Parts: sequence; C-alpha cells; structure tokens
Amino acid sequence: MVMSVIAPKRSSSLSSVFSRVGGYYSKKRCSSQFYPSSSSGISSSSSSMVIDEMEDDEDGSTMEMVQLGADRTKNVLILMSDTGGGHRASAEAIRDAFNLEFGDEYNIIIKDVWKEYTGWPLNDMERQYKFMVKHVQLWSLAFHSTSPKWIHSVYLAAIAAFYAKEVEAGLMEYKPDIIISVHPLMQHIPLWVLRWQGLQKKVIFVTVITDLNSCHRTWFHPAVNRCYCPSEEVAKRASLDGLEDSQIQVFGLPVRPSFARAVLSKDDLRVELEMDPDLPAVLLMGGGEGMGPVQKTAKALAESLFDKKLEKPIGQLIIICGRNKSLASTLESKEWKIPVKVRGFEKQMEKWMGACDCIITKAGPGTIAEAMIRGLPIILNDYIPGQEKGNVPYVVENGAGVFTRSPKETARIVAEWFSTKGDELRKMSENALKLAKPEAVFEIVRDLHELADQRGPLANLPYMLTSSFTSLI
Ligand code: UDP
Repeated sequence: MVMSVIAPKRSSSLSSVFSRVGGYYSKKRCSSQFYPSSSSGISSSSSSMVIDEMEDDEDGSTMEMVQLGADRTKNVLILMSDTGGGHRASAEAIRDAFNLEFGDEYNIIIKDVWKEYTGWPLNDMERQYKFMVKHVQLWSLAFHSTSPKWIHSVYLAAIAAFYAKEVEAGLMEYKPDIIISVHPLMQHIPLWVLRWQGLQKKVIFVTVITDLNSCHRTWFHPAVNRCYCPSEEVAKRASLDGLEDSQIQVFGLPVRPSFARAVLSKDDLRVELEMDPDLPAVLLMGGGEGMGPVQKTAKALAESLFDKKLEKPIGQLIIICGRNKSLASTLESKEWKIPVKVRGFEKQMEKWMGACDCIITKAGPGTIAEAMIRGLPIILNDYIPGQEKGNVPYVVENGAGVFTRSPKETARIVAEWFSTKGDELRKMSENALKLAKPEAVFEIVRDLHELADQRGPLANLPYMLTSSFTSLI
C-alpha cells in the first residue's frame, strides 16, 4: 500500500554507482575486470567472466551478467554498521573464523552497503545512533515505538522502495553467494532486493543476532535461511515472531577467534602490555564508543584502590576509551595515585582482557561475551535501554557479575574483590567461564558451509540491474 505511493528515487549518485559496477557492460567478455578487486578485495583468480548478452528489456535498461566456473571462491558479504562496536566485532569474528576454517574457499567482504550506496537516513546511521544513545530517552522511544511489526515493516518497505536501485547496485558490486546480516536493520531491504531479482532461492541469506537477550524485532525476518541466536531467550523471541525451528540455531554470540585461541599467560601479557606484574588489575571500558560513567568510576577507583594506611596501591587500572577521544585525552591529563593506563581504540582486546582480573563495563553484548570467555567477573555500570537491558539479569542471575550505577559502589566492590573478598571474585570467574561460548563463531561458519554445500554450486547467479521497481511491488 505504502509502496505504491513512493517511487524509487532517481539518485544523482546512481550514475557513480553504475560507473563502479557498470563499466563492465561495454565488453562482452572480461576476466578480472568484472570484480573490482581493488575496492572490494574480491578475488577473481579462478573465474572467467562472461557478460552474457546485454539483454535489453522493453525500455532497454535490463542487463544480465553471468559468471562461469562453479569451483570459484564463494563470496560472503557481511552487512554491518558501526553503530557501537559490537556489530563490527562480530563481523570480523565471522570473517576470521571463515578464514581459519576454510581458507580460500570463501572470500569475505565486510561492508556498510547503506553508507556506501544510499542516502539519508540510511547512510547516516552511525551519527544518529551516537546522538540517540547519548539522549537515552530518545533512543528508548525510538526502540519501543518501532517495535510493532507493522510499523517497522511499513517504514523499511518504504525505504526499500526509495533506495532499491542503490542497494541493488551495492549487492551487485560484491556478487554475494552468501549474505550475512549482523545488524537489526539489514535484513528487510536486501531481502526485498533479492526477491525482486528472483535470487531469494539462490543466494543464502542469514542473520546473526548480536544482542544477547532483549533485542529489537527487526532482527527477525521470516525469509532468512538461518537466524543464529546467541541464547535460548533470543531463540524464543525468534520463534514467537514466526520463525520456524529449522531456521533457528543457537550457538552463542560470535566472538573473534583470537579470544578462543589465546595462548599467552596473564604474566606474559602483563609484560607485553607493560603492566605491573603483581598488582591485581581492573579493566574499565564502555563499548566501542567509550560510553557510560567511565570518568567518575576511574576517579572513585583511584581512591578505593589506594591503601591510605600503607600508602601504596592495592590494584591497577586499565581504561579503554574506544573511539571516545575526548574521554581519553581528559583521563590522560590526570595524575593518579595508582598505576593507570589510558588507551584509545584497542585492536587486541583479548590481550587486555587476558591481563586483567575483572571488568567494569556498560552491558554491551560483545564485551560481556568476550569477558566471559576470559573468565572475567563483570561489574555492569550502565545499559542502553532496549537491546542491552536484558543483559543485566543474564549476567547477574548467572552469578557472573553485579549491577550498580554508582561509581563509588563499583569502586568499593573492586577494592573488596582485590582484598577481603578474593573468593567471591574466583567464584564469579568460574561462573563467567561456564557461560562462555568461544566455539560459537566456528559453529556458525561450519553450519553456513553445510548450507552452502546443500545448495550445490553457488556460481552463475544472474545479478541484474532491474529497470523498474514499482512494477515489481
Ligand atoms: N572494542 C574494541 N576496541 C575498543 C573498544 C571496544 O575492539 O577499544 C570492541 C569490544 O571488544 C566489543 C565491541 O567493541 O567487541 C563493543 O561491543 P559491545 O556490544 O560491548 O558494545 P557497543 O559498542 O556495540 O555498544
């Protein structure tokens, strides 16, 4: 209904999109030219490409391209957005696991196709998300008001119609055999496009949910081949939203293989990271954006971890500020009574977590899942309303940590863990390890590999530029 009143946008950027993917039409036969490997990283070594015919339809604008060679490397396109740090971390986890398990069999491309190809509001999601989570009431309103299926379905269908050509061109550039969405807003539009292209039965489309417990309903789309749920709770929600048992798999949240395959001991890591070798260490962070009461908590910890009688520290503090540069520079400029390291965005989180004894963080699912693999007791000091709220009982009720919003309370708990309540710290560490699912990411890629095998050779997918979307709606 809504679709009929919204015409696909004739974007001025479309010509540049076509120049990226359409420069190939001029030749009937080409090899490496077909895949623009320098921009996408796609290998074309085993492929000989034929642009079949420039099959003009009635208005002369539909073109079909066919690839030859069933044994070629399969393209896996992972759709994500840097709204927070968790989606990218999961995308990278899946890429690394594919590489470790299957080597050259799969070519993994991680992209924010929205940002590269579309216009507002899709290409501006990072900024909007950052703004909204800073004003949590706004985020809470947006999260809950878009929860009813008819609201988000109509909205996303309208946007799909508006940006159909751009998303289609984005998918066409990467020619995926498998599409993996690790973002709640990246199932509807690509699935519409695949349907329009008649490729829904040929391209494998799966969702990997990156929220541990409570999550938005846009994650659940009935047309996916698989919906990988990190917990039974999320699987229940998927089921209630109409997904079949055969679509749902519960392996756990995908965490970068470097967490599962860590080899260095805590002592070695402390040497490598130039930390104090003897003092217990607490890691303080706030997701990829360095959110939550990091500054106040750091100040309180500097007091509580300093023994005034003995005039010496009883612990050390590592603060990872992520992409929050102003937080990092503020903290760096301070004088501390205890050993403190202030870091920006760290690429080797498994090392910092491996070198510490407990963690203080907002209830981000990625950080929680990683901390559990490292057996770190968790103090949750904040959560983003909606998707992160359910992570609090998940941690606390399973005995892997505590929740408090008070920086002073947080600092008191850590000081006790590092002095009189060492047993409690050890018990929570054991409980965290019981919840850990380091193999989840490998199970996901193995299952995807089986799906791909069942589907047979995935080559020869006829990606086309469709002339008109309104006629298809
Ligand atoms: N992270 C990272 N480097 C940093 C800060 C965070 O790699 O300096 C990663 C962290 O390890 C986790 C993700 O970013 O994998 C944060 O995800 P989470 O779900 O906890 O929170 P979000 O940032 O998505 O709100």
